[in-house]
Amino acid sequence: MTAVSTMMRAPLSLNHFLDRAGRYHADVEIVSRLPDKSLHRHKFRDFHRRALALAEVLVEAGVQPGDRVATLSWNHYAHLECYFGIPAAGAVMHNLNLRLFPHDLAFIVNHAKDRILIVDDVLLPLLAQFSKDVKFERIIVVPLTGKPVPAGYDDYEELLRKASGRFEPVVVDEHAPCGMCYTSGTTGHPKGVVYSHRSTVLHTLVAALPGALRVSDADTVLPVVPMFHANAWGLPYLAVFVGAKLVMPGPHLDADSLLDLFEREAVTVTGGVPTIWLSILQTLRNQPERYRLKPGMRMLVGGSAAPESLFRGFDEFDLEVGTAWGMTETSPLGTVSALTAAMKSLSQEQQYALRVKQGRAAPLVEIRLVGEQGEVPWDGQSVGEIQVRGPWITGSYHEMPVSESSFTPDGWLRTGDVGCIDEHGFLRLTDRTKDLIKSGGEWISSVDLENAIMGHPAVLEAAVIAVPHPRWAERPLAAIVLRPGMSATAEEIQQSLSRTFAKWQVPDAYDFVAEIPRTSTGKFLKTKLRDMYKDWAWPGA
Ligand code: ADP
Repeated sequence: MTAVSTMMRAPLSLNHFLDRAGRYHADVEIVSRLPDKSLHRHKFRDFHRRALALAEVLVEAGVQPGDRVATLSWNHYAHLECYFGIPAAGAVMHNLNLRLFPHDLAFIVNHAKDRILIVDDVLLPLLAQFSKDVKFERIIVVPLTGKPVPAGYDDYEELLRKASGRFEPVVVDEHAPCGMCYTSGTTGHPKGVVYSHRSTVLHTLVAALPGALRVSDADTVLPVVPMFHANAWGLPYLAVFVGAKLVMPGPHLDADSLLDLFEREAVTVTGGVPTIWLSILQTLRNQPERYRLKPGMRMLVGGSAAPESLFRGFDEFDLEVGTAWGMTETSPLGTVSALTAAMKSLSQEQQYALRVKQGRAAPLVEIRLVGEQGEVPWDGQSVGEIQVRGPWITGSYHEMPVSESSFTPDGWLRTGDVGCIDEHGFLRLTDRTKDLIKSGGEWISSVDLENAIMGHPAVLEAAVIAVPHPRWAERPLAAIVLRPGMSATAEEIQQSLSRTFAKWQVPDAYDFVAEIPRTSTGKFLKTKLRDMYKDWAWPGA
């Protein structure tokens, strides 16, 4: 007879995290910055009670398991309640990206068939821009400003007050959906990714590990990354799970507001896209004595490649930059750049060379590189498309046929990212398929060039794109934003690049601009840049 496991089949569930938060972390604080800049404070005890009250209200409103409840919110205590209260009702929390164009929001709401919307009062003007194109059964308004909720809407606080407080979370299968995000559509139409209780629980357990984001109850976590951007990279789930104090920045994402919160609340872990950190570093350099941050504060930088200058710059302030790679489709943790114990005895320069890479696949995630001739070796040079699979990697898109452009026949996600993997297993991302530059038949990495240009002391930001060229098919062009009060010429930058790049790789066009267009999640909007420069006049061409 073959043995049968005697273990219980207890479903992995977010309800368990919620229960732990109320039971074991009741005194841990959640601090939120409100629109008027005042600080709202409550504890995990309140969060636990209110999330269950929200679940009760939703079930009473007729929400059924699997129904979608949307949120249109900044990062704050009520959004966190939605993260757990909506799944506790058996429903699916669909967070809407408030930086999208109203017509994209309408498309997404209709495609997801969202029944109910929970929205910040300060975002009602945004809702007004697409409300005629969508049909919510109910709209619940979170009164962040304390002003009365306009007629025709439900008041979030009033609803919670009416709950009996005796609600038991709805038990669903571990594979049942708990959350949903649409890709921001940087490279195409938005597509829905639906997370399960199981995928979210496993993602959280691995993200907390010492070799990943290393978060414990000794930490204070501030997600700068919005809760609508790939679930704020899982940081809210992580903090609730381990019992780390949470600090939420609300709508105030400028460098001074963030630095003020880092100092005031003694933040130890934070995360966001590179743009945010570039402006924070600039502010620290301008006023080195102004803010007293917790030494060793860890900043997770992701969403786009973090330039080496960022790692070196923050090291001067005893603040630690780390990077991870992922996408909405990967929950988002795909790889994480954490040095192993052995790597910490390497020279400083060798460590930088590893830290700037996107790192190793997270435990439970498998990764491979595929080129035109099949899998490419992990030799640190051969480049291929990054493909992944694992328990928190999506295997399809919401209500869309599975296409071979997104998934391979043997079940891997085609990420559309391109990179190489070294002998340590560290991934280095070189481009997105759609951003590749092919000059005279050779590929040029825009990411490598951007990182090198951003290493120039006078440069704040740089984006490199392919521009049509009559002779070479495409040539790289660099759009550059200089630091305030500093100057540099195209020749100087070209010369500094010539030290590390081959002649044919170095851009021969430079445009100094006031700002670089961005996507709704803060990345360089390369489609727009390409459009802006499509008729670039190449001298002598
Ligand atoms: P969108 O695809 O709309 O930009 P996502 O937030 O899902 O929205 O973005 C995922 C993409 O972001 C990845 O496919 C990759 O191109 C880029 N990315 C994420 N993390 C990193 C990183 N650490 N370094 C470089 N690029 C990254």
